Amino acid sequence: MKEQLALLRELQDIDLKLDELEDHKNEIRSRLKENKRFLEKLETDLENQKDELEEVRSTRTKKQHNLQELNNKLEDRQNKLHKTKTGKEYEAVETEIDVIKEEIEEAEDEIERLGEVIEETEDSIEDKEEKIFHLREGIAEEEASAEEQIAELDEEVQALKDRREEARGDVSQRVLRRYDFIRDRGDGKAIAPAKDEHCENCYMAIPPQQYIELQRGDKLITCSSCQSILYFYEDALNEDETGEEAEAEEA
Ligand SMILES: [Zn+2]
Repeated sequence: MKEQLALLRELQDIDLKLDELEDHKNEIRSRLKENKRFLEKLETDLENQKDELEEVRSTRTKKQHNLQELNNKLEDRQNKLHKTKTGKEYEAVETEIDVIKEEIEEAEDEIERLGEVIEETEDSIEDKEEKIFHLREGIAEEEASAEEQIAELDEEVQALKDRREEARGDVSQRVLRRYDFIRDRGDGKAIAPAKDEHCENCYMAIPPQQYIELQRGDKLITCSSCQSILYFYEDALNEDETGEEAEAEEA
């Protein structure tokens, strides 16, 4: 059983690493998606702003025609004023001229204001177009590098999956079923060290008799609280040390 538990620990390391790689892949994908969404929003904003600009421009054109008409009307009334004889009629035309002049001033102010709006909108459009250009470029680059990164991650995933298949082949079906069941149900961890008569996953106390059995390592023991498969902490420690020594020797 000690050997099976050691295999399970290796299996869990592989499975956790696989989870990590999948998370990393998802992160890359979601960041790219986020940027694309931002680009789409900018593009929509740009289209709206272009429509707005067209509208303001056509309003200004109308106002300019209107101003032209007012100027014609003013000229007409001023000519009429010169030809007017009676004082009463003269006064009436003069009043009319004052009103037209006021209307001209208002129209000129409005045209000036619309001109400012047009300028601001044009600046903002230019700004957005530049931003969109760079964002598109950035996304294209990011897309290429994301594909590369994902391909690399996929390779790593495949290698780990091969190793996992191998590790699983050495574990008994009964233990594997237990492991898969616990792993699917929780946060992905199915095996936990037992140390100082406690489960290191949930810190539940382990009954002394069970702890002795654990140290002996000839039975599959699970935590009564979190259901983790338990192994004796010292076993993993010894194993790591021999592992490190072996690595040191290799180097
Ligand atoms: Zn536990």
